[in-house]
Amino acid sequence: MARVLIIGAGGVGQVVAHKCAQVPEVFSDICLASRTEAKCKKIAAQLSRPIETAGVDADNVPELVALIRRFRPDVVINVALPYQDLHIMDACLETGVHYVDTANYEPPDVAHFEYKWQWDYQARFKERGIMALLGSGFDPGVTNVFTAWAKKKHFDTIEELDIIDANAGDHGMPFATNFNPEINIREVTANGKFYCDGAFVETKPMEISKVYDFPAGIGPKKIYLLWHEELESLARFLKPHGLKAARFWMTFSDNYLKHLEVLQNVGMTRIDPVMYNGHEVIPLQFLKALLPDPASLGPLTKGKTCIGCLIKGTKDGKPRRYYVYNICDHQEAYREVQSQAISYTTGVPAMIGAMMVATGTWKGTGVFNMEDFDPEPFMQKLNIHGLPWTEQFLEG
Ligand code: NDP
Repeated sequence: MARVLIIGAGGVGQVVAHKCAQVPEVFSDICLASRTEAKCKKIAAQLSRPIETAGVDADNVPELVALIRRFRPDVVINVALPYQDLHIMDACLETGVHYVDTANYEPPDVAHFEYKWQWDYQARFKERGIMALLGSGFDPGVTNVFTAWAKKKHFDTIEELDIIDANAGDHGMPFATNFNPEINIREVTANGKFYCDGAFVETKPMEISKVYDFPAGIGPKKIYLLWHEELESLARFLKPHGLKAARFWMTFSDNYLKHLEVLQNVGMTRIDPVMYNGHEVIPLQFLKALLPDPASLGPLTKGKTCIGCLIKGTKDGKPRRYYVYNICDHQEAYREVQSQAISYTTGVPAMIGAMMVATGTWKGTGVFNMEDFDPEPFMQKLNIHGLPWTEQFLEG
């Protein structure tokens, strides 16, 4: 039985709180803490059993340390924003508590989407005898576990990895993002990048696209090549096993791209400060204040997400193509946890990652990515906790 501290009460934090509350045999005590405690209390009121709530500024390490010392968690799940990662890791180091997150640390002023800063904590976590599990969402997260599963079960060599993420849902709003708008827009306006023959190759944003025919009635959709942080750790993981290419793809509607282009052209997606009426304003943060709160999209969104890994390689000397994916329905997710599927597909793996750590199923000291552990117990839990997966061997 473990005590879990969840930090961040946004779309993902809400799902994590629901899913942890559903497994009292693992998480005996839950505290949900965030900058605005009222949001934690609102979520707590939806749950089937009582949890504690707290207000905390996760950029303030002494405040975090005091909260951790008071609640005494066995594991901290960080589902605040990527800017808080290092502060929460510092507080975990000071108090000797395991750490789980769903997104790499981002410096506020430049978009990077890389693990460098968090990998630098390796020696300190090891020395302290605790573990940090990085990127336990869907992508990164489940996509890393899918890849490790494919490598363990179905391939001797892996030459190509394509991670393909479709949100075929519709919220009916002219323009909205499915998770934190600032992080989402930073991600899609950054240059693309993919792994090819031992090096990372950069592209212009949205420069490469193609049509992919998705399963489960979703059908053909245009997908765009993006940089996504899991390619960094997965390229490292698969290099010794013959990897030649690794890419990440995501669907965007023409409507979303049209709005984004205009916003970019007028400077609203900039992340550097500009002076307005004697005050510094960061345009993207101001834009976030204008856009719909992703949590408000829950009751509006219909349709499905499909996220999976398409893998090419060999088994017993023969070529093989394999596809493993999850389908998640926005409305079903909403009925269960009052959130749409994007928050659901992130929050469920965050809970399962914390469960792996809290139960000692995944054990170690230091900083880990998801593919560093045996994928089997995690794959089992996905089927039990709301994200069942399907695998197919493809022709040709
Ligand atoms: P939201 O913006 O909805 O929620 C973020 C929450 O963090 C808010 O409750 C916010 O508080 C809180 N917060 C922000 N700053 C602080 C701070 N300094 N101290 C305490 N709390 C703070 O984001 P999401 O729920 O959509 O996303 C959460 C995380 O999940 C992000 O890191 C995102 O990148 C990641 N993610 C990962 C995915 C994956 O598949 N791996 C997919 C989608 C998201 P307040 O309400 O007061 O603003």
